[in-house]
Amino acid sequence: MNFYVMTLFPEMIEREVQSSILGRAGQNGLLSVEAINIRNYTVDKHKKVDDYPYGGGAGMLMQAQPVYDCCLAVREKIDRERGKGAGEKTKVVYLTPQGRTFRQEIAKEFAKEEDIIFLCGHYEGIDERVLEEIVTDYISIGDYILTGGELPALVMIDAIARLVPGVLNNETSADVETFYNGLLEYPQYSRPERWNGKEVPPVLLSGDHKKVGQWRLEQSEMRTKERRPDLYEKYLRRKNLMEELARKNKVLYVDMWECLQLDKGEILYDGEEGAVVWNREDNLLMMAAFRKEGAEKIVEHMPEYGERLQIIVHQDFLLPLVEKRYGIAEKMVCRRAAYNQKVPLPVSGEIEIRQLDISYAKEILNHYHMETEEYIKKRLSDGCMFGAFVEGKMAGFMGLHTEGSLGMLEIYEEYRRRGIAANLESYMINVRLSKGLLPYGDIIVDNEASFGLQRKLGLKVTKEIFYWVLL
Ligand code: SAM
Repeated sequence: MNFYVMTLFPEMIEREVQSSILGRAGQNGLLSVEAINIRNYTVDKHKKVDDYPYGGGAGMLMQAQPVYDCCLAVREKIDRERGKGAGEKTKVVYLTPQGRTFRQEIAKEFAKEEDIIFLCGHYEGIDERVLEEIVTDYISIGDYILTGGELPALVMIDAIARLVPGVLNNETSADVETFYNGLLEYPQYSRPERWNGKEVPPVLLSGDHKKVGQWRLEQSEMRTKERRPDLYEKYLRRKNLMEELARKNKVLYVDMWECLQLDKGEILYDGEEGAVVWNREDNLLMMAAFRKEGAEKIVEHMPEYGERLQIIVHQDFLLPLVEKRYGIAEKMVCRRAAYNQKVPLPVSGEIEIRQLDISYAKEILNHYHMETEEYIKKRLSDGCMFGAFVEGKMAGFMGLHTEGSLGMLEIYEEYRRRGIAANLESYMINVRLSKGLLPYGDIIVDNEASFGLQRKLGLKVTKEIFYWVLL
């Protein structure tokens, strides 16, 4: 991942990124941070970059021209490295107290980018016209005023960089800490066992992982309730809805359940009539009605029309309401199959299964036409496509959709009826199981071949049908 920082004080950035974890990640080639001096782009012969604001007022303002030309130069550089057009698509983040407040979710969202350009203001800020021209995101790091955007840019780089795979030594540590499950982290202790008359809680010395896990969760809950009642309230709402969904029909509602479990979803509504969960990241809305009366209430809580919004509608009587509200462009009628057991499935050693990289895009697109090129490429670069290989040759592939369902299964004609699909799916089911998730797939109702495979592998297929709706 590459960070470009447009600033009048490049040394502030350079000094900081040489040290500690960021420095090491830079040396390992996992990320790069480059500070670009905006002053180098001014056309003023005295190298001036600021001037008085029109209409009067205190202080100086950074002028549009140097900022704009600097940004063009950075975009050209990205174009040279990634191909034409890449620079234009790169996020330009202006650090400003007027932006949305930086949070862990934003860090997670930005960690998926390949390049990010930061723009640091100074003095009283920057001429509005250039901001309108180049900025894609306005971010503040808190409700206070600093003298420049460099510290905020570094704060963001630090938070984002540590989510890039490989940057932290311990791959799991970003997963378990504060904010991962919406709770604050539990208290931690290191040697010695007794310090200043205080003992380490005995359960941590017991060696019983289950008990330790339970204790930590309780501590996290207590701590969050005490210190961040706002977070605790959200956590409880999420937990209660997950329990309710699992009680009603765990397999049918697994999409909503998993989205809440991974803390990717926002609850737009939860009541006696049903629930609406929005996975903003993937622009996916999920709606469930627990009863027929009052179903209109559920639809009322759906967002304003969003571009390319997809909706999983779990009950047929919700469809006309969705149609009335948004108009439906396309719909797929599905049943859901889930592997509701704990034991992993056997996978034959004769077939090699490998994660596929972006170089397989063309081959996959030649065989699979249900998704767009952009989507398949994104799935490949996110490491979510797997191939089955027989004697070194690819015999088929399968993938994980953004929202968590298994799919995109294709075995090439000449390799069919050899159990390759079963092996590939078993492999992927086992990966999902190892993450504590309920592996599932959404299958179009007339795909008999797929239902056959699901039943053979021991997956439970819902008797209910539901709908994938595209606006
Ligand atoms: N006059 C500006 C206003 O009221 O919005 C504040 C300008 S501030 C003194 C100078 C620069 O520091 C800003 O352009 C911005 O880049 C950065 N900055 C200050 N506080 C910040 C914050 N809380 N978050 C992010 N950036 C900040």
